[in-house]
Amino acid sequence: DSVTLPDGTSLEGAVSRLRDGDRAMLARCITLVESRRPDHRRVAAALLQAILPYTGEAWRVGITGVPGVGKSTTIDQLGVNLTAGGHRVAVLAVDPSSQRTGGSILGDKTRMARLAVDPSAFIRPSPASGTLGGVAARTRETMLVCEAAGFDVVIVETVGTGQSETAVSEMVDVFVVLALPGAGDELQGIKKGVLEIADIIAVNKADGDNADRARRAAAECRAALHILTPQSRHWSPPVLAVSGRDNVGLDDLWEKIAAHRDAMKSSHEFDERRADQQVRWMWAMLEERLLGLLRADPEISARIDEIEAQVHAGTLAPTAAVEEIAPKFGA
Ligand code: GDP
Repeated sequence: DSVTLPDGTSLEGAVSRLRDGDRAMLARCITLVESRRPDHRRVAAALLQAILPYTGEAWRVGITGVPGVGKSTTIDQLGVNLTAGGHRVAVLAVDPSSQRTGGSILGDKTRMARLAVDPSAFIRPSPASGTLGGVAARTRETMLVCEAAGFDVVIVETVGTGQSETAVSEMVDVFVVLALPGAGDELQGIKKGVLEIADIIAVNKADGDNADRARRAAAECRAALHILTPQSRHWSPPVLAVSGRDNVGLDDLWEKIAAHRDAMKSSHEFDERRADQQVRWMWAMLEERLLGLLRADPEISARIDEIEAQVHAGTLAPTAAVEEIAPKFGA
């Protein structure tokens, strides 16, 4: 019953210091939930259970867009607008490639210069971990720790190049897609699959010579969206033209985020989405945990590279491979 953090702090002590806004404790709790050591995982589970009553009130906002679209610039500006309005803003990143690229592209403090020194803000780069599922699980838990620490807006940033958008859309209440005007009146760097999970689309860099083009692209996108069935009967994704650099349209963006929240709350979709997310998180974590155990099994880990190579070469059928692996694990 006497759970303590790796530094010896009691669980109760850690929770109370976290809630008092102790930055060192916040960092320590996040390091704990990011750890994969089994003993740390057990303490992290106790911590997450203990902070549960202090979580769930924050605005959970996902923001995606291809590199160069202006995510950092926009989040920096939106963030300082929000802290000026009395909010406390945490920015987290989901970037499963950060390990491979040898450094995080997202959540980099130097790219959010004003927010990085804002006492009402907290920026945390993506946890360095192999799988998207692992990174997403760690980020969800970090989000909860930030909420318990009093951050009432959590922005989760991800690149718009793969499956990470879906992972992020499943941990937030609203998903914002940043896009750029293309050569014609269309949007560039935005895939249909991403449009389908977007709650709000913001065409960025609507400034200077770009302003008209951005507005035309926004209108074009609005027309294109009409042929897609919206995700919700209670919400049609708006398309805005913004400039993160010049702070144009960001108040409007926040108003749309608030309007989305109101629409979801009054239709009860808000609670349903959160409840469904909780269940999916549970399964995702179980899958990750069980797969981890399976991979760590000595007999399986000794054979797995060879099995994978045979499946890759086409000499072993995937079904036969599963039949070899699963029984070793009692399945
Ligand atoms: P990220 O890779 O999505 O995080 O994009 P950044 O925020 O790093 O921005 C990429 C480049 O676009 C930088 O050179 C920014 O200065 C520029 N940029 C970002 N937002 C705007 C904007 O609203 N207008 C203009 N003109 N440039 C911008």
